[in-house]
Amino acid sequence: MPKWIVVTGGVLSGLGKGTAAAAIGRLIKGSNKIVPIKCDGYLNVDPGTMNPLEHGEVFVLDDGGEVDMDFGHYERFLDIDCKFDWNLTSGKIFNKVIEKERRGEYLGKTIQIFPHVVDEIQHNFLRIAKDEKADIVLLEIGGTIGDIENSWFIEAARQLRKKVGTENFASIHLTYVPYLESVGEEKTKPAQRDLATVRSMGIYPDIIIARSKNQLPKKIKEKLALLCDVPVDHIISGWDISTVYEIPLMFEREGLLPLLQEKLQLSKDTVLGRWSELVKNIQQPEKEVTVALCGKYTQLKDSYVSVLEALVHAGAHQKVKVNVKWVETTDVEDGKKTVADALKGVAGIIIPGGFGSRGVEGKIQMIRYARENNIPFLGLCFGLQLSVVEYARTVCRLEGAHTTEINSHTPHPVIDLLESQRQITRMGATMRLGSCNALLEKGSLVHQLYGSVSVHERHRHRYEVNPNYHNLLIQKGLRLSGFSPDKKLVEFIELPNHTFFCATQAHPELKSRLLSPAPLFMGFVRACCREDEYPLNGQ
Ligand code: GLN
Repeated sequence: MPKWIVVTGGVLSGLGKGTAAAAIGRLIKGSNKIVPIKCDGYLNVDPGTMNPLEHGEVFVLDDGGEVDMDFGHYERFLDIDCKFDWNLTSGKIFNKVIEKERRGEYLGKTIQIFPHVVDEIQHNFLRIAKDEKADIVLLEIGGTIGDIENSWFIEAARQLRKKVGTENFASIHLTYVPYLESVGEEKTKPAQRDLATVRSMGIYPDIIIARSKNQLPKKIKEKLALLCDVPVDHIISGWDISTVYEIPLMFEREGLLPLLQEKLQLSKDTVLGRWSELVKNIQQPEKEVTVALCGKYTQLKDSYVSVLEALVHAGAHQKVKVNVKWVETTDVEDGKKTVADALKGVAGIIIPGGFGSRGVEGKIQMIRYARENNIPFLGLCFGLQLSVVEYARTVCRLEGAHTTEINSHTPHPVIDLLESQRQITRMGATMRLGSCNALLEKGSLVHQLYGSVSVHERHRHRYEVNPNYHNLLIQKGLRLSGFSPDKKLVEFIELPNHTFFCATQAHPELKSRLLSPAPLFMGFVRACCREDEYPLNGQ
């Protein structure tokens, strides 16, 4: 019989419910098998078709599932591989209910939110827990208490408590305690109202995490405890801190662990030793470097969260703080800035994944600059494709070379659609998605970094390096250092006579975790720290 921890949130969005849930998971993990389930109220079946500016990054799992970015937090904190099945959206649930209705499985009944949708949700909770043989299910309900679109998930969680027994069920609610500058103290009224709403929905939180600017004073905790009906030591203060990876340690100091161990009769084998060391490295680095992240979504940092976290992980393992300079490539393209200006003071350049034409020529100029000036360069997915375009144009002298995603009439389609993609007209879940195997050339940079000739990384793209140009690129000095096992698809490229010029068709940032950083990011950060080997750009 698994234990259930249900995490809800109130007052407002953006309090970091996902990171709090992931941190709770880290804290109690020990030898337990933890299975996170995330419920999202929206009607999209998955976030794969959503604009990252609206929803943040689309996270991709090994199984190819495109899921909510909170799964990124779960994987980074818990060091586990999640499954698409564990992200329950209203769209997915309604689809299942409507399909059953069409098959006549409800035997003439009128299909309603209560009980049919709620039953379907509960059925999925229990099925996942059983299929996975979970010790602990970490059930996060997205959105804010009081929203219409998560109400069916809340009701399913309420009923679940009865079904599995209160001794196997803990409810944690994240609320918000603002600090009112004019009176110089924390105000508890929004939290009181929030807790009243939660209780009116039949959820009685065992533990309240109070998000706030500063650590909560004892008297505020006492007030909250009195008005929200929990013992004072069940109020956990969650204040703003410099790195999310400290949250498990903060919760531990606040006494969350024994509360959960006692309530759920959990084993007491949790260890945060190595984790604490890495957090210390993040907080007290020995060195700093600045790298440029060039993209078109720089307005919303959430759209590149995995890349940013992968830099934090690699930095933590090398005691380096990696600062990120956001470079909007349209500025270079429109002539508002020169490449040299845009890249002033940076020790390395990353071109991350992307779609569409805006800012592309700017990115290509950045890549050329990195290649010609021996500046460490890491290209991710679109970053690889544009590196190949740049190399084809400048070194192979293929004038007008391009990816057909941007110019379908290019005379030299060095990046083109996968054959299997040509017939596709539906948008949802139709890209080349998920974990794919690549075989690396012995002795290459990527081989050294991974320490293996066979690697698996996650993908999310439609276009590929056109096989008709492989030989020319190789002849002209580009090392195609990793291929799909059938040798048809280029997975990694690098430049032999460069301090660090490496790109991949995959998204290695998606598999980077604090305890096991991504090898390419480790290599990139290391190269960025070797100032002695090349002059720091613009300094
Ligand atoms: N737009 C490119 C493609 O579809 C790259 C995608 C990406 O960077 N994730 O192939």
